Amino acid sequence: MDNHQHNIIIVGSGLVGMTLALMLSRQQYKVLILDKSSKKELLEVKDFRTSAISQGSSRILKEISIWNKIKNKAQPINEIYVSEGINSNELDFKSEALNEGPLGYIVDNTYLKKIIFKEVLESNFVKFVGEVNIKDIKSTAGSATIFSNKGNFNAPLIVGADGRNSKTRFFANIKSFFYDYNQVAFVFNISHTLSHQSKALERFFPSGPLALLPMQNNNKKSSSVVWTVDSQLKEKLLKNKNFRNEFEKKYAEAFGQITKTSKPTIYNLNVVSCYEYFKERVVLVGDACQAIHPIAGQGLNLGLRDSYHLAKIISESLELGLDIGSRYVLKDYTNKRLIDKKLLIQATHRLNQLFSNNSGVIKAIRENGLKIFNKSSFLKKQSMMFAMGLMKFDF
Ligand SMILES: Cc1cc2nc3c(=O)[nH]c(=O)nc-3n(C[C@H](O)[C@H](O)[C@H](O)COP(=O)(O)OP(=O)(O)OC[C@H]3O[C@@H](n4cnc5c(N)ncnc54)[C@H](O)[C@@H]3O)c2cc1C
Repeated sequence: MDNHQHNIIIVGSGLVGMTLALMLSRQQYKVLILDKSSKKELLEVKDFRTSAISQGSSRILKEISIWNKIKNKAQPINEIYVSEGINSNELDFKSEALNEGPLGYIVDNTYLKKIIFKEVLESNFVKFVGEVNIKDIKSTAGSATIFSNKGNFNAPLIVGADGRNSKTRFFANIKSFFYDYNQVAFVFNISHTLSHQSKALERFFPSGPLALLPMQNNNKKSSSVVWTVDSQLKEKLLKNKNFRNEFEKKYAEAFGQITKTSKPTIYNLNVVSCYEYFKERVVLVGDACQAIHPIAGQGLNLGLRDSYHLAKIISESLELGLDIGSRYVLKDYTNKRLIDKKLLIQATHRLNQLFSNNSGVIKAIRENGLKIFNKSSFLKKQSMMFAMGLMKFDF
């Protein structure tokens, strides 16, 4: 039995779980955070990706005094250009159109995870237990219990932040929608001869989108690449020089010639979306609740907003003496998160389908759609506010 007098148990010490733990710790609530990995493994992060952190997410990280430690290593994104293939008929989003600062920032995942995990380990209010293998979760009238190889852990509320293959979701019997895109994402970094000038590019090809995200290192002459292709193309591309040749065609010297390319890491792409966000005394956040296509670089941002709103509701409920694991409190959380989640899950799903379609009619709709969209400053401002995580949905 565990003796740490915690109010909440969080399963999963990823970016979403850790942010929630730190938000609660700042209110002096005690949190127990469990992970299947050991402390050593989590400190030796092996995540070669970068994350596009929205303006809204940077403000969430500011609230927990983390942003100060990250901002010097974060590359601001001031402009985003979206096009159908390599087409000069681009849809442009510029930060100067709004008075909110950069559209977002590109941050190295390894750096981000290390900084936040160290903060978790140093907190007097968060206790970390690693190498936990969950065997079951049961809820009773007053509390929920995790049964594991490290003993039993009780709390009025268990939060599942254990990623897209969440065991918490499985043991809580929360049903989800799953769709395999039959696509993979190649993630790698490139160095180029010209500066990216704080610009991000998103180029849509029928075989999948290509995103070039500006990085801070190498004097702004590096970009992080997320290149999505149909799964059947994967092996063909990896043969001989196909990969580099095919990539260079799509890159088309956007920032001059490529001088260096890192080895690609490959991710299979699918969407997981839960039909309900909680059951009994278990609530899900981040990828455990919805793991979306990386097409718009929004999965983490959505998860951080889950943590932000859940922490707020938990803290308000505890102040009022309410039971934080009750249906009343968790329904309130669901209502506050519903629109933001549904909109983004649908938008990323449909966007991928719309642009991966080679039919002539769809192509014409797309091209005209981009033109109309580009001319409407209202539509552009609204979608920028949404993508920047600044739209308010918690009525
Ligand atoms: C190629 C790619 C690019 C992306 N780019 C972006 C981007 O630019 N911007 C953006 O916002 N999002 C992006 N995303 C999405 C983003 O990576 C995820 O949404 C985010 O990492 C989810 O964080 P999480 O903490 O919810 O889950 P995870 O990062 O999956 O963390 C889960 C944690 O739970 C632990 N765990 C797992 N199972 C168990 C268990 N059974 N018991 C205990 N612990 C467990 C794991 O060890 C881990 O520590 C991208 C995704 C991909 C695939």
